[in-house]
Amino acid sequence: MKMRNSNLRRHTLYMVDSRNRVLSQSIGSRSGVTLVELLLVAACFVCGVVIALRAGDTYGVLGYFGGFALGFVAPFAVVAAIGLTVAYLIGALTGIPEYPVCAAGKCHSRDAPNSDYRYEWDEAENRLIARCQCGTPYVKRGRRFFRLGEEGSLTPYMIWKPLRGWFTDDKPA
Ligand SMILES: [Zn+2]
Repeated sequence: MKMRNSNLRRHTLYMVDSRNRVLSQSIGSRSGVTLVELLLVAACFVCGVVIALRAGDTYGVLGYFGGFALGFVAPFAVVAAIGLTVAYLIGALTGIPEYPVCAAGKCHSRDAPNSDYRYEWDEAENRLIARCQCGTPYVKRGRRFFRLGEEGSLTPYMIWKPLRGWFTDDKPA
């Protein structure tokens, strides 16, 4: 099982936490996402240039600079706001905090980079493994949070009930 530490990739365009990585995985391949990010930056750049030219016509040199700054930054703010809203909605459906306290009752899920959980990408199974400070690996599937056994077995641990919280999961895996 080949592990790659994905903490370095945490602060990408859309910031926040592993939810977005899982979302990106479901949207498409990594190169596809990179292309989308490139197009977004290019679109913001064009938007900045267009607004700079218009503002420059009206307000002179300051208009060029201010117009470009506004036209370039504002679309990023909109994209970030949409990203955060989507992340919040996914969170409301799948868990806030993202993960429950660990089975030993010690480790808590917090926003990056202060979480007690660390993330590893499991290439073989194409899934995200969350490891708490105790060293116990967990796997999250939708609203369910499983303990990962040494032989790869999944033991139900907790389940997120929207608007109610994390509860002990006693249904079989
Ligand atoms: Zn722990």
